[in-house]
Amino acid sequence: MSRRIGVLALQGAFIEHQQLLARLGAEPVPVRMPAQLEQVTGLIIPGGESTTIGQIAGRWGLLEPLHAFGRSGRPIWGTCAGMILMAQEVLDGKANQPLLGLMDVAVRRNAFGRQVDSFEAELEVPVLGAAPFHAVFIRAPLIERVGQEVTVLATLQDGSVVAVQQGNLLATAFHPELTDDERFHRYFLRLV
Ligand code: GLN
Repeated sequence: MSRRIGVLALQGAFIEHQQLLARLGAEPVPVRMPAQLEQVTGLIIPGGESTTIGQIAGRWGLLEPLHAFGRSGRPIWGTCAGMILMAQEVLDGKANQPLLGLMDVAVRRNAFGRQVDSFEAELEVPVLGAAPFHAVFIRAPLIERVGQEVTVLATLQDGSVVAVQQGNLLATAFHPELTDDERFHRYFLRLV
């Protein structure tokens, strides 16, 4: 099995993903050009600023190749801003930001407002096993609508959806690359 995993490296927390992938024995490949997508078997879209990542991706001709990559069945995992880019719909009413529109979900950006800019929570994530997952949320989005093909992997205590999977596509509102818990990255590598 090829372990060359792309990490979209336009803006945001891509280094942390690369480090964690390397620790797991995968070969992380920073992706900045469409041709680089042909060299990887899976892709992580990191957290950061989704409007910025989307705009740079548009300018560098990456939106259509990224969309095709996901549609071809190869795994993509979006964390936080990456999750927003994966969504078909963004609910915050802002100007139309570039999206890949790969997952049948609607997300709300900065859903926790200014008072709760960032927080951490112990999540139950059954696909990762019994131990709770320590999740770091930073100006995080929430998933407010989930399509029929989408499986919910984790919710907050109030039922808010924060991790989903749709076949080869994975999205988390939080940042597993900022913790030592490697289980989400291992889970993604198993999809590849
Ligand atoms: N608030 C950011 C956005 O809307 C996401 C924050 C993050 O990725 N940590 O793009």
